[in-house]
Amino acid sequence: MSVSSACIEIPAQSAIALILRSGEVLRIVDGFGSQVADLALFALDDPSEGFSPGRTIDYHESLALAVGDVLYSNRSGELACVVEDTVGVHDMLLAPCSDLMFVRRGEVSHPSCHANLSSVLQPFGVLDDMVTSTLNVFMDVRISSQNRIKLHAPASTPGDRFAIMALRDLVIGVAACSSECTNAGHCKPIHYQVFRAAAPEVRNADAPLSSH
Ligand SMILES: [Zn+2]
Repeated sequence: MSVSSACIEIPAQSAIALILRSGEVLRIVDGFGSQVADLALFALDDPSEGFSPGRTIDYHESLALAVGDVLYSNRSGELACVVEDTVGVHDMLLAPCSDLMFVRRGEVSHPSCHANLSSVLQPFGVLDDMVTSTLNVFMDVRISSQNRIKLHAPASTPGDRFAIMALRDLVIGVAACSSECTNAGHCKPIHYQVFRAAAPEVRNADAPLSSH
């Protein structure tokens, strides 16, 4: 995948919003290693349509994503597809870290992905309550045999990459996750690139498993 655009840094514990036109690629690069990036995806022309982890998990019958997999919306629309992944471990289960999550831990006035994403997406018509579901790139959440979940340090090392190609015009919030325990104890910047690439092979889910 050839790229000419330079990497842009998102400072630690902050977020940016960008417009990704259909056919453009957003590549997330972990410049320092063990750093999560939360992606919040919405249709540019109607941000009430956004990324649905539940439908994506349902239609692919998997908690994991593979290159070629489609990211589906709350209306079962095709928002984007995965075109590059050098790690293979990401999360679609947990909501972005939030102010109240940190308050529950006894940490007040802590930066959060929810607040950072809400702030940068607000000019695009994305309301605070709409930032509920993110694709947590490089985040390692495992399920025990007792169905408990446990957070592990991201497996990403410096230079690891994950990229999606827009299948329609999108507005995307990208956060360098603000939670120390999610990022091996230390919150770091995350990097990204936007470029146009040749269309890859897209692997649609065969059919929805259920009608919910
Ligand atoms: Zn976070």
